[in-house]
Amino acid sequence: MSVLVYVENAEGKFKKSIFEAISYAKAIANQLNTNLVAISIGNVATADLENLGKYGAAKVLTINNDQLKSFVNQAYASIIAEAAKKENANVVVLSNSFSGKGLAPRIGVKLEAAVADGAIELPQTDGGKFIVKKTAFSNKAFAMVEMQSENKVISLTPNSYKVVEDGAAATVENFSFEAKASDFRTMIKEIVRATDKISLPDAELVVSAGRGLKGPENWGMIEELADLLGAATACSKPVSDADWRPHSEHVGQTGIAISPNLYIAIGISGAIQHLAGVSSSKVIVVINKDPEAPFFKVADYGIVGDAFEIVPKMIEAVKSL
Ligand code: FAD
Repeated sequence: MSVLVYVENAEGKFKKSIFEAISYAKAIANQLNTNLVAISIGNVATADLENLGKYGAAKVLTINNDQLKSFVNQAYASIIAEAAKKENANVVVLSNSFSGKGLAPRIGVKLEAAVADGAIELPQTDGGKFIVKKTAFSNKAFAMVEMQSENKVISLTPNSYKVVEDGAAATVENFSFEAKASDFRTMIKEIVRATDKISLPDAELVVSAGRGLKGPENWGMIEELADLLGAATACSKPVSDADWRPHSEHVGQTGIAISPNLYIAIGISGAIQHLAGVSSSKVIVVINKDPEAPFFKVADYGIVGDAFEIVPKMIEAVKSL
């Protein structure tokens, strides 16, 4: 028996969420008194694969060929499920990223496994049970999920588990698997980047603005602050509905759910549907001229004031650092 963690790469590099997933999977392996194996798909430098040992993956399986250059849900799920079978892994861990959300249920079907998506804590394993705490109802509640099947698939919410570094270099082994033609029914032929800006779902820092900004012509200061901080930009739903900002920036219950380390909300009231997508951010800073704005109730830091005065001051302060 072992634990398998899928280590997703973005253009050959691993993000922090993957180190979190490995650390989390290693802690589960320790709980179950077993070892941890990682599987990487696509082109990643050997040194970067070896480096995963630092977070607890003593062995890393790697598979790469032309067909696997781009993410293909079905084929990647087949490979991960096959690796789990070969490694005798009962527990498969992955990050609850955009691709993780597509992979977890597919791997679950292939392994006849219970699936817990969006885990936020280590499983409780007392008395032979396996209970996972996860977010539910768009982050408005938690659910304790008892996983009763022998095989289990768990996807970890980014930023919910600390990165632990206490291992040595991993051994890297090639993994061979002939995916079926049916695994490649849909293929990404080309990816054209719409923007060079930081992608919102992966961003650690997010500067977000709402209807309080009055119009699209006022987003220059939001973009400037985001650029200075190395943050992604986001917005509330009415802002994207009014075409002030692209729909890809809309966060909330009907938009993207994010959990960055820092979420700065400017001129956003904090409606429950907005909070549903951002309330699991580590630190929330709210800037609103209405002291009664509901967002202040969930804020770690709040500034009551006019965004058009405060944001330029923040920009000057960051520039002077
Ligand atoms: P407003 O509610 O108009 O708030 C603007 C805020 O800006 C106010 O608090 C005001 O005090 C402040 N302000 C004004 N001027 C200034 C200034 N100069 N400086 C500082 N502050 C200022 N919303 C989402 O965001 N995401 C979702 O996914 C989403 N899904 C929804 C799903 C459903 C089914 C429904 C019914 C609604 C959904 N909504 C969603 C809409 C949500 O209910 C709110 O209407 C919306 O979030 C409000 O957006 P806002 O805060 O930008 O605007």
